[in-house]
Amino acid sequence: MRVVIAGAGLAGLSCAKYLVDAGFTPIVLERRDVLGGKIAAWKDEDGDWYETGLHIFFGAYPNMLQLFKELGIEERLQWKEHSMIFNQPEKPGTYSRFDFPDIPAPINGVMAILRNNDMLTWPEKILFGIGLIPAMIKGQSYVEEMDRYSFSEWLQKHNIPKRVEKEVFIAMSKALNFINPDEISATILLTALNRFLQEKNGSKMAFLDGSPTERLCEPLVDYITSKGGEVRLNAPLKEILLNHDGTVQSFIIRGVDGAADEILTADLYVSAMPVDPLKVMLPKPWREMDFFKKLEGLEGVPVINLHLWFDRKLTEIDHLLFSRSPLLSVYADMSNTCKEYANPDRSMLELVLAPAKDWITKSDPEIIAATMAELEKLFPQHFTGDNPAKLLKYHVVKTPRSVYKATPGRQACRPDQKTPIANFYLAGDYTMQRYLGSMEGAVLSGKQAASVIAQDYSPKTSTSSIAGEATLV
Ligand SMILES: Cc1cc2nc3c(=O)[nH]c(=O)nc-3n(C[C@H](O)[C@H](O)[C@H](O)COP(=O)(O)OP(=O)(O)OC[C@H]3O[C@@H](n4cnc5c(N)ncnc54)[C@H](O)[C@@H]3O)c2cc1C
Repeated sequence: MRVVIAGAGLAGLSCAKYLVDAGFTPIVLERRDVLGGKIAAWKDEDGDWYETGLHIFFGAYPNMLQLFKELGIEERLQWKEHSMIFNQPEKPGTYSRFDFPDIPAPINGVMAILRNNDMLTWPEKILFGIGLIPAMIKGQSYVEEMDRYSFSEWLQKHNIPKRVEKEVFIAMSKALNFINPDEISATILLTALNRFLQEKNGSKMAFLDGSPTERLCEPLVDYITSKGGEVRLNAPLKEILLNHDGTVQSFIIRGVDGAADEILTADLYVSAMPVDPLKVMLPKPWREMDFFKKLEGLEGVPVINLHLWFDRKLTEIDHLLFSRSPLLSVYADMSNTCKEYANPDRSMLELVLAPAKDWITKSDPEIIAATMAELEKLFPQHFTGDNPAKLLKYHVVKTPRSVYKATPGRQACRPDQKTPIANFYLAGDYTMQRYLGSMEGAVLSGKQAASVIAQDYSPKTSTSSIAGEATLV
């Protein structure tokens, strides 16, 4: 059976990968001339890569890790020491570390927290630990119920001191969804904390050894095409045409560069587009259906990814850093963390600017000027004196609508991969799966979509050919 999938982000490519495994023939249509969606990357005129986002892979990403294994590219993940490293705004130029010892979970996490005395006092650690007990005992159903509250409200309800939020959770909230704790749903932080505390290597981080487009998306496309599938760039879905019974008759692909539009007919259809473009493309009869109406509650959150090349090394740290700056979220010196971007003499900082709602319309020079002012606080030793570090060049990548904004109440708006339309399915990090808006969530959503398609229409195999978590969820 031919399955047309709109969107060649991780969700669309993972869906296609698991569909070819189950004996289907997927045809992936990508609007842009680059693979990867939110993990897309480009090479500039000097041959330097710049990316849509600074991307971290976690130990608690079972479907992503299995995918790397299935593609035979596991060695491309560069695992870092099991630590979380925070800048200390009150002591510019210094860092505070949470080091996870090599012992079983959750003791390694508890030890990491207890051994850090820079950020939290003992009474704060104890009150925080007590507050977390219900989440640990009652598990995921409690975590889902907490979607009623923002994380700030949840902390307050559990008598956890305001300083715990300020010291640790502003940074984590911005890293997870590019918004602050007073906006983010408690479910997001509690889900992450649960994974990190329950799995020994859950919070262990890896960087890819090069650009995600080349090092992850291309092997996926090679796999899909080697088994009879197809991936087409510059092929934007323009309209979904319906049969009289409301099922999909065909996809219209907009002709690019003056070419005529194309009508593509298949047996089954998948949207692996982000929720924002899907909402505007929904055929009129579908908009009245409760299943699709819910999507109105989901909207992408703005974020900006910055790349700054300097004339010297600013740090030797080979890890992700939580800036704890009001302007910035996480960052890394990619000249240390990523094999293909390595440079022993010069730093390339990749930084996430979040929350970005007040910055997304500003010019690149304004954004860079504000970022440089923050960097002077993070690296005072390099930006003061007679010979301050020089910025050689930069790239700013704005994503006005990135992952869905995970405010309270959003869990109820997230749709299943199976829709009420018999020949139409959804994939995408915003669809319902256990891993929120993330690369793992995108891969799992694609796998789940392939799994329900195989259940509904399997041409040759049972769903057991799509191994892993998807069949368990
Ligand atoms: C700055 C930033 C940092 C991030 N950091 C992390 C991180 O550290 N760890 C992590 O796990 N996740 C991170 N994420 C989130 C992660 O990138 C996403 O959750 C994931 O890549 C989303 O995949 P997706 O396939 O669901 O959607 P997308 O990647 O958005 O893919 C959708 C695709 O659909 C295409 N499309 C849209 N309209 C059409 C159309 N009409 N026709 C055809 N195609 C269309 C788009 O061009 C795109 O390629 C980050 C995201 C950003 C932006």
